[in-house]
Amino acid sequence: MAKTVQSRLDRFMNGLIRRNPGESEFHQAVYEVADDIIPFVHQNPIYQGEMILERLTEPDRIIIFRVGWEDDHGNIRANRGYRVQNSNAIGPYKGGLRFHRDLTLSVMKFLAFEQTFKNSLTGLPMGGAKGGADFNPKDKSAREVMRFCQSFITELYRHIGQFSDVPAGDIGVGAREISYMFGQYKRITNEFTGVMTGKGLAFGGSLVRTEATGYGCVYMMENMLNRKGEGLKDKTILISGSGNVAQYTAEKAIEMGGKVVTLSDSAGFIHDPAGIDSEKLEYVKELKNVRRGRILEYAEKYGVEYFPGKRPWAVPCDLAFPCATQNEIRGPDAEAIVQNGCMAVAEGANMPTDKDGCTVFLDARILYAPSKAANAGGVAVSGLEMAQNSMRLSWDRSEVDNRLRRIIDDIHDKCVEYGSEGDYINYRKGANIAGFIKVADAMVGLGIM
Ligand code: NDP
Repeated sequence: MAKTVQSRLDRFMNGLIRRNPGESEFHQAVYEVADDIIPFVHQNPIYQGEMILERLTEPDRIIIFRVGWEDDHGNIRANRGYRVQNSNAIGPYKGGLRFHRDLTLSVMKFLAFEQTFKNSLTGLPMGGAKGGADFNPKDKSAREVMRFCQSFITELYRHIGQFSDVPAGDIGVGAREISYMFGQYKRITNEFTGVMTGKGLAFGGSLVRTEATGYGCVYMMENMLNRKGEGLKDKTILISGSGNVAQYTAEKAIEMGGKVVTLSDSAGFIHDPAGIDSEKLEYVKELKNVRRGRILEYAEKYGVEYFPGKRPWAVPCDLAFPCATQNEIRGPDAEAIVQNGCMAVAEGANMPTDKDGCTVFLDARILYAPSKAANAGGVAVSGLEMAQNSMRLSWDRSEVDNRLRRIIDDIHDKCVEYGSEGDYINYRKGANIAGFIKVADAMVGLGIM
């Protein structure tokens, strides 16, 4: 990188870190974008002086609020709720809600920032936002979760709307939680609108929304492999996580003939060398979605090895799909993945690879689809759910799946267009630049604000 560009990047990052002290996840997400965008802006005079990145890293607004509720034993509990509305330059704010014990403002800001680029990449008119609460739904009864969701929306409802901000699910927030929140929104406002996506099918949800992030991630991988004359058939595949994204990544990968050998949760991972077939995957869905059990139980049921407190990255593989959480692949994990012969990584989770890990993948020149490209299928089908709600109709499964496929194919092509470095495609760079251009053009056109 030329010296002037490097010093611009350093100055920009120093300013960001000074204004947002201690927010390491936010710093990391911004760095991974700025590293590609500052050189791009340097070469494209129309963006120079517009301060696009400076403006995009200062969210439009941040809402922080108390969520008071009562548990099953009559104790009063207080949690902290968030909504970070990062940018609505290209459409209403759109992004998931996360319920996780360790949630911080830094995590919310990194996710809202990333979401802005991801939503732009889909080609649909959606701005970027993210929200959630430091609430752990795992050890709560269904009634406690319901009361929490109702209290959460009793505050948040005044900041969202079908034309202003449309939340969806994320870690700890699935169809059950979205449905409770949508119910409370409807009750308070007396309006039945598409204010949330990921709803139950009986009240405005879209077919394929549940599967969309995982399926989209596999479509992205398929596109990268096809370009190299390869496919998923007979490939040995690592998947981390065992929640929504992991389950449907596994489902599509198995359907395409891949051999998925690992799944995990926050307590450890299982290694099934024979491969997780459709029947075993149904067991995982029942275990995680209905009984809300631990992945350890898979090892006990099928007699395979369980590795407590570990992640699956040292297991040899052809393809890897991190689908659990941020920073689950550190530098040494990435080195193990590359040394074991992995040819491609597609990120189902948001920012699962840390800065060192990213460098390892890019230096090794393996196929590497960053989250904003690889997991955009979820928000893409959320956008399609909004479209169906507005039109008051429902598309059938193949219609939604075909549209999802086309959107992911298009994202892949944009990454190739903007990420070509000789015969190597730097998908991170391609995704960052393609996502940036649409938002930047809108910001230039909309004027200074
Ligand atoms: P779920 O809550 O359904 O599943 C999350 C999975 O990740 C669980 O297996 C969970 O294990 C594991 N996990 C969570 N935190 C940690 C941690 N700190 N360390 C190790 N494992 C952890 O969430 P989703 O599948 O919806 O989301 C997974 C990732 O995908 C997130 O990064 C999310 O932002 C991203 N994503 C999700 C989309 C969606 O449509 N759902 C869309 C785009 C991105 P345990 O059960 O033990 O907590």
